[in-house]
Amino acid sequence: MITRSPIPLQRQDESEESRQNGSQREAPGTGRGWSPTPPAWQAQLAGAIRDPRELCRRLGLNERWLPGAEAGHALFEVRVPEAFLSRMRPGDPDDPLLRQVLPLNAEARPVPGYVADPLEEAAHTPAKGLIHKYAGRVLLIASPTCAVNCRYCFRRHFPYAENSPSTAQWEASLETLRGDATIREAILSGGDPLAASDRRLSWLVERLGEIPHLKRLRIHTRLPVVIPDRVDDALLAWLSATRLQKVVVLHINHEQEIDDAVIAACARLKAAGVTLLNQSVLLRGVNASVAALAALSERLFDAGVLPYYLHVLDPVAGAAHFDVPDDEARELVAGLREELPGFLMPRLVREIPGEGSKTPL
Ligand code: SF4
Repeated sequence: MITRSPIPLQRQDESEESRQNGSQREAPGTGRGWSPTPPAWQAQLAGAIRDPRELCRRLGLNERWLPGAEAGHALFEVRVPEAFLSRMRPGDPDDPLLRQVLPLNAEARPVPGYVADPLEEAAHTPAKGLIHKYAGRVLLIASPTCAVNCRYCFRRHFPYAENSPSTAQWEASLETLRGDATIREAILSGGDPLAASDRRLSWLVERLGEIPHLKRLRIHTRLPVVIPDRVDDALLAWLSATRLQKVVVLHINHEQEIDDAVIAACARLKAAGVTLLNQSVLLRGVNASVAALAALSERLFDAGVLPYYLHVLDPVAGAAHFDVPDDEARELVAGLREELPGFLMPRLVREIPGEGSKTPL
């Protein structure tokens, strides 16, 4: 098992920018117009809870949860921003938001079929920080860090340290994109791509916009959900400026994640011309009921977000306790179809290594 060590973001940006000094080309962050004061969201990111004891204490959990929390934390560290914590019910170990972030003893138990790289991404990495799995689309790892560490994450063992994007690696990725006219869409992923600073993202998106055959920019992120203040003026400025069509795919698993601040963040993104979609993971203990899934779709639509995918769990080591068998998943979706109009139905899919697209179940 790999223990993922977080890379403090601000420090990563600063060191990257200092490496750029002397470069002939203007580097991310050396341009004019950026405030030297860190934005509010970065302080919230830096202040996220990273101690399993603190997480249990803040939520008033019984001490019996501590050994499991500490054992799981040793495998994949706890990270929970205050804004996300504030939506959890104190004293309730079954809270659906807490279940997504609380490490359990079960994570350390090996389960046959559950592996470190369930999607075999290592085999599809033509350049560091670049994943090319599907025709016409390329995925760039824009940040090695997440704002929240989700226990079921299929990249919980991903070697981010090796794929942490330096500007030189971004340049190499851009070169790959420039040379392949079949690529129409650049997908920023991570970690969470919006955990990178706006100065770096602005630089990258500007370069992407200069590639004539690229049409779309897609961003997969959980940050506007777990720290809604991430959708600030600086982010909206570079997002609004690009000529590329913009799609933001949020990652929300339960209606309780969507509070007024999230709705306001979504409204700001939409006003900047962004199409908002959501993907969820079907998770035992979080959203594995018709009622929970229906409430999620309704609440997403309240926020101006369309349900897109409902993924079955990727078999990543440490997450087997979240699994919902395929037959049960199909039954849930059949029940959901009776509750919702078609446009609020997410597509139930599985990602299979080597397949050219997601596989419907
Ligand atoms: S935010 Fe996304 S990439 Fe990060 S841990 Fe959660 S599921 Fe994984």
